[in-house]
Amino acid sequence: MLAIGRTANTHNLNLKKVGVQTNESNLKVLGGFSGEFEKTSVNNIYAVGDCLDKVPELTPIAQQSASLLAHRIFLKTVHSQNYL
Ligand SMILES: Cc1cc2nc3c(=O)[nH]c(=O)nc-3n(C[C@H](O)[C@H](O)[C@H](O)COP(=O)(O)OP(=O)(O)OC[C@H]3O[C@@H](n4cnc5c(N)ncnc54)[C@H](O)[C@@H]3O)c2cc1C
Repeated sequence: MLAIGRTANTHNLNLKKVGVQTNESNLKVLGGFSGEFEKTSVNNIYAVGDCLDKVPELTPIAQQSASLLAHRIFLKTVHSQNYL
């Protein structure tokens, strides 16, 4: 099986209405605002995993990024995902 050209299923989330910017070509959420890769153009809205633009589309990346983000938000840690 070959799967190419995947896009994010963000079109029905009303992201524009709340001010979250997306990449018009693949509908993925733009991050990197305020120096944090998962932070969107709206201060209290984050994106992780495949729906975030310019990250490797891999399960371990999505899982670890989400875990690190949750720890930063709720436990006030400082560790963030290294996407390189
Ligand atoms: C064919 C294929 C093979 C792959 N093989 C590998 C591999 O071998 N190794 C690897 O590491 N990665 C692989 N991947 C990539 C991996 O599947 C993704 O990177 C990973 O699933 C991303 O996790 P995620 O949570 O960001 O997104 P997803 O796993 O896609 O989860 C998103 C969830 O959100 C739900 N959702 C979507 N829209 C809405 C909405 N509007 N409201 C509410 N819920 C919504 C979906 O139903 C889904 O449950 C593969 C992907 C594909 C397509």
